[in-house]
Amino acid sequence: MASRLLRGSLSVLGTQRAWRPPPASRCSHSRGEERLETSSAKKLTDIGTRRIFSSDHDIFRKSVRKFFQEEVIPYHSEWEKAGEVSRELWEKAGKQGLLGINIAESHGGIGGDLYSTAIVWEEQAYSNCSGPGFSLHSDVVMPYIANYGSEEQIKRFIPQMTAGKCIGAIAMTESGAGSDLQGIKTNARKDGSDWILNGSKVFITNGYLSDVVIVVAVTNREVRSPAHGISLFLVENGMKGFTKGQKLHKMGLKAQDTAELFFEDVRLPASALLGKENKGFYYLMQELPQERLIIADWAVSSSEFMFEETRNYVKQRKAFGKTVANLQTVQHKLAELKTHICVSRAFMDSCLQLHAKRSLDSATASMAKYWISELQNKVAYDCVQLHGGWGYMWEYPIARAYVDARVQTIYGGTSEIMKELIARDIVRDE
Ligand SMILES: Cc1cc2nc3c(=O)[nH]c(=O)nc-3n(C[C@H](O)[C@H](O)[C@H](O)COP(=O)(O)OP(=O)(O)OC[C@H]3O[C@@H](n4cnc5c(N)ncnc54)[C@H](O)[C@@H]3O)c2cc1C
Repeated sequence: MASRLLRGSLSVLGTQRAWRPPPASRCSHSRGEERLETSSAKKLTDIGTRRIFSSDHDIFRKSVRKFFQEEVIPYHSEWEKAGEVSRELWEKAGKQGLLGINIAESHGGIGGDLYSTAIVWEEQAYSNCSGPGFSLHSDVVMPYIANYGSEEQIKRFIPQMTAGKCIGAIAMTESGAGSDLQGIKTNARKDGSDWILNGSKVFITNGYLSDVVIVVAVTNREVRSPAHGISLFLVENGMKGFTKGQKLHKMGLKAQDTAELFFEDVRLPASALLGKENKGFYYLMQELPQERLIIADWAVSSSEFMFEETRNYVKQRKAFGKTVANLQTVQHKLAELKTHICVSRAFMDSCLQLHAKRSLDSATASMAKYWISELQNKVAYDCVQLHGGWGYMWEYPIARAYVDARVQTIYGGTSEIMKELIARDIVRDE
């Protein structure tokens, strides 16, 4: 029987060709296929490149590209004005099999491999549409529930999240604590078998549209370090005492519904605790590397997009009687950009390969996040420069890519925190 990922792809492509997604357990794609790396491909965004993928992935990528072209790009400006994407889009993505791809089918996910879910991050970055918070929902929030949730929680949330009918968010950051998560004040105290949650969170991606939020809260203050007294809770929209603030006005990510969340004496049943009491910090440390990997892959993909956008622009823009691309200084800048992007892509693909085998360590994920998100900002700066004044105009895609890039070195752990994590490993005594 065709898998759910297959059914999604076939309906987008309108083809009857039998195709199954590569199972999550298979990590090697070297089946004798000759595949170009992006450095040798015609365009950095070409389908059919990179040895970590197979021709099965290419078929899937085509369908995902079509989805973003038809269902996202035409509506994105409208969503930027609204500060949120439509719920209908989430359900369309669910129907297409684009959510919960790397979550086991037995849990209600799609059961595809890491590479297939990475294709969705990459194609969204290529579409230059940052509104839909799909990657956070599918590859940050859903894994917490799938990995640490009870059978009841998995049954209740995962199938609905895969269908795009239940939107997920994760709330760690507070107005007074971001990098230093151990400084959070939101807390939950026991009342019989229930918990009473109080506090607030800020900058929460998918916060305004969220149906379920993983809330990080202090549950024990009498511990040797705060990290040992933090737990995770599943808080649902509509619970008494849970309110959402306005969508925040941001420099970029304009169609993304980033919000503030408030909890005032929210009564949570014992079944809302995610995983074990006081183990929340440990779960965060386990899952944060994947979040950093998503940001890094998004960063290199966006850089690839910006490069191609700029290459096209300078090849048609005229100055001093010839195209801008004819100027040697411009050619050297493009050569520099392409080299930096392709070198980062090689490291990124190696990280994806390691992560697919569950052997990516946290420091290496931090290196990818730090290095590539910083690169994305340099690429954005140079590409706007190569567009001249038109690069500063919102109607040009490079302007949106530029403002969207800025947050990448901040969320998911700042570049400074990434260096802390990398450095810790370097100087640790054996
Ligand atoms: C658009 C957007 C979406 C977000 N989405 C989410 C979300 O969905 N869920 C969520 O929980 N959070 C989210 N965040 C929050 C984000 O993860 C934090 O903003 C980030 O971790 C930084 O925390 P902070 O803003 O409190 O900065 P601070 O921690 O106050 O840092 C301020 C500065 O001090 C530096 N600094 C701090 N500590 C150190 C140190 N030890 N060494 C050196 N320098 C240091 C930082 O690098 C930074 O430059 C989002 C943020 C944004 C902007």
